[in-house]
Amino acid sequence: MNIGILALQGAFAEHGTVLDHLGIEHFEIRQRQDIERSFDALILPGGESTVISKLLRDLELLEPLAEKIENGLPVFGTCAGLILLAREVEGGVSCFGCMDISVKRNAYGRQLGSFYTEAEFHGLGRVPMTFIRAPYIRSVGSQAQALAMVDGQIVAAKQGSMLVTAFHPELTDNLAIHEYFLKMIKN
Ligand code: GLN
Repeated sequence: MNIGILALQGAFAEHGTVLDHLGIEHFEIRQRQDIERSFDALILPGGESTVISKLLRDLELLEPLAEKIENGLPVFGTCAGLILLAREVEGGVSCFGCMDISVKRNAYGRQLGSFYTEAEFHGLGRVPMTFIRAPYIRSVGSQAQALAMVDGQIVAAKQGSMLVTAFHPELTDNLAIHEYFLKMIKN
């Protein structure tokens, strides 16, 4: 298995470190030619969704990646990556727009919105969750399923082979969420 990690801006290196711990091959996607090889899944990291979205367009990566996702390439979006996948974005613009969720950007406030908590994740028990100027999911459409809640708000969801978390599992030493994604890829 080989996983492409979008490496235009943000916390992409940390996902590579997690995949190293799990013994999974990965590579960074920085330009168009990087996606000419074949790969089994894509990770969209946290960062600034507006910046990543602009770079995706400028580097002509948006369309080919959208096409791959539409054709079933499994994708895992954390934080800004979640925003990029959402169909509807309050306080921002949708980018791939392929996931049937409506999200609120910078939902916990711009400056003081970073916090750590632990909460139930569907089928995994309690997992550590680090939030940094995070969005939350206002609602999931009929195609998507909520996987975790914090303070009454949805913070993780899946739809087919798409997984999103408002928090950053790559910033804790808990590997459970990445393992969950690997299982989704194998199915
Ligand atoms: N606030 C960022 C955005 O709107 C997301 C923050 C993050 O990815 N940690 O894109």
